[in-house]
Amino acid sequence: MNNNPISDNPSNSNNKNNGLDGKKHSFNRSYWNEQLKQLPAPCRSVLQGRFSNTPFSFLSATIVQELQEASGLDQAELGLLLLPLATSFAVAPVSDFFVGAIAFDSDGNAYFGANFEFAGTHIGQTIHAEQSAIANAWQLGAKDLALLVINYPPCGHCRQFINEVKLANNFQIQLPNSEPKSLTYYLPEDFSPKDLGIEDRILGKQTQQSDNNNATLDTDLKEMAKLAHDTSHAPYSGNKNGIALLYEEGENKEIVSGRYAENCAFNPSLPALQVALNSRRLQGKDWQNIKQAVMVETKTTLSQFDNASGLLKEICGVALGVVALDSY
Ligand SMILES: [Zn+2]
Repeated sequence: MNNNPISDNPSNSNNKNNGLDGKKHSFNRSYWNEQLKQLPAPCRSVLQGRFSNTPFSFLSATIVQELQEASGLDQAELGLLLLPLATSFAVAPVSDFFVGAIAFDSDGNAYFGANFEFAGTHIGQTIHAEQSAIANAWQLGAKDLALLVINYPPCGHCRQFINEVKLANNFQIQLPNSEPKSLTYYLPEDFSPKDLGIEDRILGKQTQQSDNNNATLDTDLKEMAKLAHDTSHAPYSGNKNGIALLYEEGENKEIVSGRYAENCAFNPSLPALQVALNSRRLQGKDWQNIKQAVMVETKTTLSQFDNASGLLKEICGVALGVVALDSY
């Protein structure tokens, strides 16, 4: 790739000391605005026309196309250019190290993601930036993944996580100052769902409503958790799981749900609570101000209740309600 748009920006070669503060959990608007200001004027104009000053973590294929026309960049180059905006969503109180990712589906829609660490609990609760972007795509109804742009090489955990996703034929991973490469390059001789006789993948299923800004009743919470449960991905254990979180901001009550993304190698699985918190954070809103939480789970030899309740207690002190369904 020529004229890599990100290579001249020192904040992308070393994300330490770049103006983000890992200890701050709320979305850093001033950092976001700074990154916007650094974009070429034609791109800024497209984004300000579409979003005014509201932060965004999803770009429709139409807007991606407009940005490509305005900048003259191809999709991967545009992804690299926009990475600092995705990185703005990072929450890194443990590492103070900020990772951003942008997933594109084969229709050309773009989904942002960033790393998300939780203080006061165990390190295994962390969401990696690649997982964040993929969870965002899944929640918003993406049907596959064609390109993943990241500011650091994917760790082994993420390579295995990506291998669970439905990928378009020409799926590529793009890093700064590098040629795009396939997942096969990053994960040769892979252990895959096929080794366990599973054809299902994350993404590709019918989209679901992942948030509800007019929620007023407890039943809404349970219904959304049930819907998330029903569309979760748990082909290895049958431990289907969905969570719905109720947020209150003044008069507004908002529900955000999340569904479980299981992995054939088990440990890179992403719990439903993480998927819900990720969706909320990527709206640029307060993700800790939870008033009520409900999990719907198919109990098998596994249960995710203790793990989710522990994290929830650390975040907001709210007790997790649970509706356990019989295994089938
Ligand atoms: Zn990773």
